[in-house]
Amino acid sequence: MADSEVPVNSETDLPTRPESTVRQPCRDHYDFVVIGAGVAGSLAAYLAARQGMRVLLVERQRFPRAKVCGCCLNSRAQQLLQQAGLADGLQALSPVPTSALRLQYRGRSLSLPMPGGLVVSRSRLDAWLVTEAVQAGAEFLDETTGKVLPLPDAGRKSDSETAESESETDCALRHVTLNSGTAPAAAVREHVVSARVVLACDGLALSSLSLLPEFHSEVSAGARIGLGATFPGTPKDSQQHPNEILMAVASQGYCGMVLTEDQQWNLAAAVDSRSLQRCGSPLNCLRDIFHSAGVVPPLGLDTAVVRGTIPLTRRTSRYAGTRLLLLGDTTGYVEPFTGEGMAWAITAATIAVPLAMRGLSLGWSRDAEHEYSRRIQRCVMREQGVCRALSSILSHPLLLRLTFAGASLLPAVTRTLITRVNRLPRQLEPIE
Ligand SMILES: Cc1cc2nc3c(=O)[nH]c(=O)nc-3n(C[C@H](O)[C@H](O)[C@H](O)COP(=O)(O)OP(=O)(O)OC[C@H]3O[C@@H](n4cnc5c(N)ncnc54)[C@H](O)[C@@H]3O)c2cc1C
Repeated sequence: MADSEVPVNSETDLPTRPESTVRQPCRDHYDFVVIGAGVAGSLAAYLAARQGMRVLLVERQRFPRAKVCGCCLNSRAQQLLQQAGLADGLQALSPVPTSALRLQYRGRSLSLPMPGGLVVSRSRLDAWLVTEAVQAGAEFLDETTGKVLPLPDAGRKSDSETAESESETDCALRHVTLNSGTAPAAAVREHVVSARVVLACDGLALSSLSLLPEFHSEVSAGARIGLGATFPGTPKDSQQHPNEILMAVASQGYCGMVLTEDQQWNLAAAVDSRSLQRCGSPLNCLRDIFHSAGVVPPLGLDTAVVRGTIPLTRRTSRYAGTRLLLLGDTTGYVEPFTGEGMAWAITAATIAVPLAMRGLSLGWSRDAEHEYSRRIQRCVMREQGVCRALSSILSHPLLLRLTFAGASLLPAVTRTLITRVNRLPRQLEPIE
């Protein structure tokens, strides 16, 4: 299975590695094995470890790592981190507050109020969350790829049939194979660990579930490719206000630009795959978007690192299986507007950990899986409608022009949409 994200030119400098990174699992058996240390996985590992669970968090890349992302954390995400007791730690990262989103299209500008948002670089945010998980008691193993193994009798029964029979005995464990190290093959170490529950938080490509055919994702027609670039900068390099998110919109796609707390320009784009091919290189594609939108790109873009993703918009066949829950981008992907992607991943972690713990104490059953899927549907999938609509608007020039006109005539509609994507979902009811 393809990596979900690859650098398409060179490497970049990153902050230091989280402390207490282990080199191999300290035991064979865990309560939780969490695969993938993005926001979903590292927060879930933290929440579970804080409850006294034995947690192993594995991450394929060496940490800290870069990530294609606009780095905008909306107020829902912040509220959930605050509820998890992480508000002070987040503030200690010195995130940049945002007050407005400026859309720029063919030289025209539309500024939308975006109060309460924060910008924080993903390498530092994710590394901090991992450190919090480790301090809460989780083991962290990076440069390690996790794959969930099929249940022993999966050849005879489907995963859901197995779940039904397991609820009678409740003795099954989930096994995960871990591959640490890199080529040559002789340097790769393999371990198999067991878990009472596995959380698959490994992002778009669903690589942790490649051995379980019942979990697959369907890429939407016309799905865009993500591009990201990070390079040193100062406010003087651009016409952009430091507390503003600038979104350059063009027929090739759109590119968001922010200055992060560590004085880096962070560019994150969703581009049409045919336009990308026509442009000849990802860097040219970013330049073209800026040019068409009438935005002068910041100094430093020409030598920037550009990373690319696999096609973005997709749906996953199911969100849960026997002792297995999917969180964050593994459940599917809708292009975020500003800050929803991480908020949905954080929401999923907040739902998954207490439900999994209840499933472990009462005996795992299909009810736990259905309950998880139901909550993800209500608190994440339903909320994605607004972003899906906005993403369609950004790809249709006529709709975009009407939106530019409408937003200035009907500011209340714009405010309602922004409030809607930022609020805590009403259905985030407590888990008994
Ligand atoms: C262009 C673009 C702009 C975006 N802008 C924003 C924004 O401004 N705000 C926002 O909130 N969201 C934004 N998003 C979305 C956001 O980045 C994601 O929704 C969010 O990162 C999902 O978090 P996650 O934890 O599910 O996955 P990820 O953050 O992708 O983390 C998954 C981790 O799993 C690891 N992994 C993968 N496979 C394995 C394996 N088999 N074993 C072990 N580890 C594995 C990966 O290396 C990775 O570290 C943007 C996305 C794109 C593409």
